[in-house]
Amino acid sequence: MKKYNFTAGPCILAPEVMKATSDACIEFDGMGLSLMEISHRSKNFQAVMDEAQALVKELLNLPEDYEVLFVGGGASTQFCYIPYNLLEKKAAYLNTGVWATKAQKEAKLFGEVVEVASSADDNFTYVPKDYTIPADADYFHITTNNTIYGTELHHDINSPVPLVADMSSDIFSRVFDPTKYAVIYGGAQKNLSIAGVTFVIIRKDMLGKVSRQIPTMIDYRTHVKKGSMFNTPPVLPIFTALQTLRWMKKEGGVAEMERRAKERADLLYGEIDRNPLFRGTVKCKEDRSYMNICFVMAEGYENLQDEFFEFATARGMHGIKGHRDVGGFRASCYNAMPIEGVKALVETMQEFEKLHK
Ligand SMILES: *Cc1c(COP(=O)(O)O)cnc(C)c1O
Repeated sequence: MKKYNFTAGPCILAPEVMKATSDACIEFDGMGLSLMEISHRSKNFQAVMDEAQALVKELLNLPEDYEVLFVGGGASTQFCYIPYNLLEKKAAYLNTGVWATKAQKEAKLFGEVVEVASSADDNFTYVPKDYTIPADADYFHITTNNTIYGTELHHDINSPVPLVADMSSDIFSRVFDPTKYAVIYGGAQKNLSIAGVTFVIIRKDMLGKVSRQIPTMIDYRTHVKKGSMFNTPPVLPIFTALQTLRWMKKEGGVAEMERRAKERADLLYGEIDRNPLFRGTVKCKEDRSYMNICFVMAEGYENLQDEFFEFATARGMHGIKGHRDVGGFRASCYNAMPIEGVKALVETMQEFEKLHK
């Protein structure tokens, strides 16, 4: 049976990306060797790194003064890199979910943290909009897509202080203005690659901002200076990232990824709103994520939750269980999800409706 992978992360990648990765594990670049057994300093791997960095710049339209880094540690380690490198006195954070809360917690180890707004009071079912960013903050941190709750910031924010964004789960799915951001980071295992590499996009004027000593590996300057090769980088995930970047470029770039994301989201939210058995969990419709689409059984149908899960799983819908903090269902529709997957899920919901209405 054809399965559609709606998992939140690590998650779906384009079939040709998987194929190119598995081929390189056997033999890389006609070398007679596996990608996994060659030096990261070989010219063959250096070409992978160079092209991956160049394609991130090209696809996101980054101006000259931005650097692209590939490091280890996941987005969670960036929660600490950010304040270590940028927080001298005070930082501002927008609290829109569990990841945003975790980012803020790390910053508190380094200085004063102002939570400008939070939607915790309503289980993060919306993105706060009325708040003031303190003009004396060293930076303002946001999470552009809240993977667990299915909310997303669909517009760039105007911040009076450097804007730092965790874009783990919506990078490359929306055209944005990079000049609004000072630092963008994320774990690659949602829209870019397999787990094991973290992307960081940093404007050069953000380097060397604090007076404290920074351990070598946590200092962004180390990775900028050494081209993400200070130590052994995660070669396989970087290779896979390159395949995804090439795939996105070939398919029409970020604008096309955005068009597909909207098409999928419109179709699925349309069904959630129409089908009397289901309801969306995000209170404010304009905040609905295009990447992680969360829904639960509607009032009166709550007892059918397990049955729908089994019904959908038996029809090849993989990984639609909602996060335990939200319950119900979450259909993650990252860039590589074909529209056929969403159509199949919508049909599954309609068949289930016929059985129970
Ligand atoms: C998945 C995710 C993280 C955690 O990423 P790791 O690479 O596992 O540390 C952080 N922020 C957001 C928004 C995420 O979706």
